[in-house]
Amino acid sequence: MENVIIVGTGCAGLTAAIYTGRANLSPLVLEGRQPGGQLTTTTAVENFPGFPDGVDGPDLIMRMHAQAEKFGARFRYGTVEEFEHVDGVNRLKVDGDWIEAKAVIVASGASPRYLDLDREKELIGHGLTSCATCDGAFYRNVPVCVVGGGDSAAEEATFLTRFASKVYLIHRRGELRASKIMADRALANPKIEPVWNSVITKYLTDDEGEVRGVALKNLETGAESELALKCVFVAIGHEPNTQPFRGKIDTDEGGYLVQTSGTHTNVPGVFAAGDVADHVYRQAITAAGQGCAAAIDAERWLAARE
Ligand code: NAP
Repeated sequence: MENVIIVGTGCAGLTAAIYTGRANLSPLVLEGRQPGGQLTTTTAVENFPGFPDGVDGPDLIMRMHAQAEKFGARFRYGTVEEFEHVDGVNRLKVDGDWIEAKAVIVASGASPRYLDLDREKELIGHGLTSCATCDGAFYRNVPVCVVGGGDSAAEEATFLTRFASKVYLIHRRGELRASKIMADRALANPKIEPVWNSVITKYLTDDEGEVRGVALKNLETGAESELALKCVFVAIGHEPNTQPFRGKIDTDEGGYLVQTSGTHTNVPGVFAAGDVADHVYRQAITAAGQGCAAAIDAERWLAARE
C-alpha cells in the first residue's frame, strides 16, 4: 500500500510531490492525459513570484518535476479510471490496475471547454484547438479567430498575432471580462479585430475536412454572417477533471471537488489541491500553494492515524 498517491503533475501535484517527498513519504505521482498540466500550454509566465523577467511555462514545470524527483517522488504514466474508499482504504483504478493508498491528493486540474457544436470532437486538430501555444505556429500568415472574452482569450489573441495575418476575437458580449491590462493590450493590437455580441453557430470545412471558416450569429441584431479563417482557438474556460471521483467525493454544482477544511475532502485521507477544487483563483501560484497545503494536511493526517 502506498503512503500517498498524487493524481496530477501540474503546479499543485508537483508541489505536493516536493513536500511529501521531503517528508520521506516517497509519494507515487500519476501523470495523466496532460503531463505537466495547463502550464505546459502557456508561454511566458510573468506573474510567478521569483521570476522578474518571466519564465517559460514548460520550463517551470520541468524544474518542479526535477525538484520532486530529487526528494524521492516516483512518477508513473496512467489515467485514473475509478476511485473508491473501502474499509478505510483509498483505491484508484489506473489503466486497469487497482492501486491502494493511505492518502490521496487529487490535483487533476481542469480541461478546456469547447462550444458544443456539431462535429466538434472530430475537428480538434483540423483547425480547431484550445491551445494557441501548441498550435499557433501552424497558422502563419492566415486569418484565425479566438472565441471568448476572458484573460485566456485576450492572451491567446495577442500571442497569435505573432503568426497569423489577422486574429478575430469573437465574444458573445460587447466588452471583454479580461483584466484591463490584458484587454487593452489585445484591443490595441492592429492585427486583432473584435467581433462583438456574436457566437459561432457552425464550423465550416473544406473538402479535406479542415476548418475554412465559421458561421456567426449576432446576438443583438440576429444577423447571420460567415468569416473565412483557418483555425478556431477556443478560450471559454475549463471543466474540472473530476469524472472518476464524482459520486464518491463531494463536488459542487460545477463539478469541482469540495474542500471541507483546509484541503480535506469529505473522504478520510483524500485531499484536493489546485484547479480541480478552485474555480475562483486558478493561478499557477495558488495551485502550487494548495499543493503545499495538501501535502502538509496529508502528512499530519497520516501521522495522527499512525
Ligand atoms: P473565464 O475568465 O471564465 O472567461 C471565459 C470567457 O468565455 C468569458 O468571456 C465567457 O463569456 C466566455 N464563454 C464562456 N462560455 C462560453 C460559450 N459557451 N460560448 C461563448 N463564450 C463563452 O476563463 P479564462 O479566460 O480561461 O480565465 C480563467 C482564469 O484564469 C481567470 O481567473 C483568469 O484571470 C486566469 N488567467 C490568467 C492569465 C494571466 O494572468 N496570464 C491568463 C489566462 C487566464 P462571458 O464574459 O460572457 O461570461
